[in-house]
Formats: sequence, structure tokens, C-alpha cells
Amino acid sequence: MEPRIGVLALQGDFEAHQHALARAGAEAIDVRTADDLNQVDGLIIPGGESTTMLKLLDMENLFEPLREFGRKKPIFGTCAGAILLASEVLNPLQESLGLMDLTVERNAYGRQIDSRIAQIELQGEPAEAVFIRAPAIRRVGPDGKVLAKYQNSPVLVEQGKHMVATFHPELTDDARIHERFVEKVKQAS
Ligand code: GLN
Repeated sequence: MEPRIGVLALQGDFEAHQHALARAGAEAIDVRTADDLNQVDGLIIPGGESTTMLKLLDMENLFEPLREFGRKKPIFGTCAGAILLASEVLNPLQESLGLMDLTVERNAYGRQIDSRIAQIELQGEPAEAVFIRAPAIRRVGPDGKVLAKYQNSPVLVEQGKHMVATFHPELTDDARIHERFVEKVKQAS
């Protein structure tokens, strides 16, 4: 059976994730309320603006339900979503769900070169990655597994059932990363 995977649809680029999930063989569902969360086996938190997302999560009373969800089910955070999953956020210090033992620094690549398409190394193979005002992962906890690197820094990390990418895998045709998350959701459910 196809797993049902939610995409947090409060703000940011959630539609591209829905298409990527469909390509990876999952049923994609918009998540806007705690009730929606109860309907899904895993969740993607998309890119966007993490400060705005935090405000909306607060307004919708979704922050705690989301943390509770992440204690039981897999979450994949991309870009702003990665910032929300981390245990420590720098530049500036910011509240987060703390579901992964990671330190991330927001807007880490500077103003001039803040968005680019780059070649990364994905488990020993080349892949293309789109970075948009991306954060950098400055520390990975002992249970984290680095799956991809760019300029020798981690850009895709897995820890138990969760996963984060500092880039936008939903914006390239390469389905490998969404497929991996769909697999994780299948295993967990
Ligand atoms: N710069 C954004 C933030 O700090 C993240 C950018 C993105 O998600 N593309 O929240």
C-alpha cells in the first residue's frame, strides 16, 4: 500500500514536494491542522521562511502537536524545515522542534551567493542540488548519519526516522531522496 505522507502547507514551497512524493510512489496530503496530522504516516516540512513558519505554527496551535508527531513518526525537513527540526539554531538563536541532534546556522552562505545550483556528493555519487538562502549544518550529533556533502560540509543527514536537507530535492528531477524518505515511512509504519 502507498504510504500517506503529509506536506506541511502553511507557507513555502509545499506543492513541489507533493509532486516529488507522487513520483516516489506516495500519496501526498496537505497538512494544515493537528487533525490533518492524524491522517498521515510521515511528514515533510518544506523550505520557506522558518521565522514565518514558527509564527504560523504558533497561531494554528500546531507546534506541540508537530513535536508529538515527530516523537512517533518520520519527518523530513528541507531548508527552513531542517532549521525547524534541529536542536540548536544560530544566526540568530531561534526556537525549534529539537527532534534531531543538530546545530544549524541560518543564511550561512551570505547575501551575494545566497542561491545556486551545485554539484554535491550523494553517497559517493554526484547529484545536483538547489540551494536557496540555505542554512549550514555546523554540528551533527553522534547518532546522525551524513548522506551527502557539499564543500565537505553535511547537507543531507539522517537520524533514526528523521531526515534533513539544507537544499531543495523537490526542485530537481532526481527522485532518490524522496524515495529514501518514502522507504523510511514504510519501515516506520
Ligand atoms: N533562509 C530561510 C530561513 O532561514 C530558509 C530558506 C529556505 O527554506 N529556502 O528560514
